[in-house]
Amino acid sequence: MSKSGIQIESNGASAVERVVGIDLGTTNSLVAFMEGETPVVIPGEDGLNLVPSVVAIAENGEPVIGNAARKNLIETPERAVYSVKRLMGRGVEDVQDELRYFPFKLAESGLASLGGPLRIQLGDNTFTPPEISAFILRQLKRNAERYFGAPVTKTVITVPAYFNDAQRQATKDAGRIAGLEVLRLVNEPTAASLAYGLDKKRDGIVAVYDLGGGTFDISILKLHEGIFEVIATNGDTHLGGDDIDNLLIGIALDDIAGDMKVDLRRNGEAVQAIRKAVIDAKIALSSSDSTTIQVTLPGGQPYAREITRAQFETLIEPIVQRTAGPAKQALADAGLTPEQINEVVLVGGSTRIPRVRALVKELFKREPHSELNPDEVVALGAAVQANILSGGSKATQDMLLLDVTPLSLGIEALGGVVAKIIHRNSTIPASATEHFTTGVEGQTNVAIHVLQGERELAKDCRSLARFDLKGIPPMAAGMPRIEVKLLIDANGILNVTAREQRSGREAEIEVKPTYGLTDEQVESMIMDSFDHAEDDFRERQLIEARNEAENMLAALEKSKKNPAWAVLSADEKKRIDELEHKLADIKCPQHNATDYKAIQAATEALNKATTRLAELMMDSAVSSALHGQTMEGADEKMGQGPAAPHPIAPAEFSKR
Ligand code: ADP
Ligand code: MG
Repeated sequence: MSKSGIQIESNGASAVERVVGIDLGTTNSLVAFMEGETPVVIPGEDGLNLVPSVVAIAENGEPVIGNAARKNLIETPERAVYSVKRLMGRGVEDVQDELRYFPFKLAESGLASLGGPLRIQLGDNTFTPPEISAFILRQLKRNAERYFGAPVTKTVITVPAYFNDAQRQATKDAGRIAGLEVLRLVNEPTAASLAYGLDKKRDGIVAVYDLGGGTFDISILKLHEGIFEVIATNGDTHLGGDDIDNLLIGIALDDIAGDMKVDLRRNGEAVQAIRKAVIDAKIALSSSDSTTIQVTLPGGQPYAREITRAQFETLIEPIVQRTAGPAKQALADAGLTPEQINEVVLVGGSTRIPRVRALVKELFKREPHSELNPDEVVALGAAVQANILSGGSKATQDMLLLDVTPLSLGIEALGGVVAKIIHRNSTIPASATEHFTTGVEGQTNVAIHVLQGERELAKDCRSLARFDLKGIPPMAAGMPRIEVKLLIDANGILNVTAREQRSGREAEIEVKPTYGLTDEQVESMIMDSFDHAEDDFRERQLIEARNEAENMLAALEKSKKNPAWAVLSADEKKRIDELEHKLADIKCPQHNATDYKAIQAATEALNKATTRLAELMMDSAVSSALHGQTMEGADEKMGQGPAAPHPIAPAEFSKR
């Protein structure tokens, strides 16, 4: 055991950050993450999953968000805003129709300068739509951080399929303002399909029917080899649950005017109380045959009216029917008949209404998916995507005050470099997981060489153990996902497991004792690493630059078989081919190549030239790590995503 005696409270070496998925909705927003194999929504402090997309600025300048801000819409409407998603990435001239429907208070400056950035007045301050969305995102971030007890800085956010570039950019900006790195924007219908795991069906046509609070979207997706492409969208940006609420409020107000001889139409407080009562009744009618709209009006007078589901359905029929036209149009635009649709997915809180479900079934002539909560399904899908991008979940460790590891622990990666997994001075028990892959086509085993020390190269570190993970099914280089987990228990026993996730092959070894080194030895190993830091670094960079070049070339080879390759122009392809040859030439050791920078530059040039190819592959794209032909590998290796996993040499290459 180390005698360093340093006691640090931390989550251990394994405090690897989680990437969350966010549905930034017009009415409600949610944050979700992948718990093992299942995506789950993270509740707020109030225990509720949905955070209403409402922002208010209190008298003291503090922002109030979500449920807490709802009452501000009535009490201090000049300091509160909702539905801000409608203004994202839009100019003053684009939002005139919204201003007819919504009480947005554009700042004078925003109105004055047509074409200038749009700003919303909240009390004494003005905010851009991304700034207001950032308040909501920050709240979701806080909810996730409270839930994990750890910082959250990376996310995937969903956007409507029809969002244009400016709207998407504004959403990314909102993320950045909130202190979140937006790894990707995913189309809402794609996310919903992912939540249902439809990507695993490989091929087919999916219709996503999304009826939310104030918007209706219909999207037709084509699924080809696990990749989604939006082939048609339609909808109505002013149609949703709010229309149903307003209809019921109107009826209640008429009732009250008739029976009680009072006109409450201009009484904001009364209307709000009635709104709450009709929404409760509407929700009740999604699961029962009748209910009572019940409210105590300001002044203490009670109002109650019984309503049956049949009456409700008759009332809302015109609203429900307004979704049929856009749905049929989307099908027509896609050149499809209802019979050609393979799957239908319900999204949006308003699709809980049985009459809406029945209409969807009539329209598409099949039973829609409704197993998941329709108002959560988009966030759940975002979590699935987030998990894919983060390379799967990493182990976490309970908070414990214990000893620390005196030296870093890791394994040898291709080329003899060390991939550190648990860093020195990590509290133990500690566990951490890293992902690796293979470096050779059809490689069926990997040599796991466990090392201890601070130096960059395996030969300069202390070898703790070696074992092989065998029986990996032959796959292309870079395709296997090898999860290597290091765990040091409270007794200092190191346990190493390697698991190929696609095939489930697993091997493990127990190393005992973890660090039978004297303090002097430890000290000298650390000093050594300082002395050699520069040489080590150069050598490592050369090896890594070569590995990276090889990854890039292998990924490109594979990408050329992707349908996206055919979409590129002849010029684009020619340029890529040239850069490919250049890189292949410069990276081989026989060539001068002692200069890692030249290799890096050539890799970078090829990476740049293939950006559009990668985007084409990814955008339509979403895939699951579960089926062999994943886009994820391409994403990583085409340089658009997180750093590529280190390859590990096969057993027969490793020096014993
Ligand atoms: P958005 O995507 O627009 O942000 P949601 O998908 O969260 O919104 O949908 C919100 C709408 O769903 C609201 O109009 C809400 O009243 C309605 N809603 C939620 N639950 C139910 C239910 N059980 N029955 C009917 N409508 C519901
Ligand atoms: Mg929605």
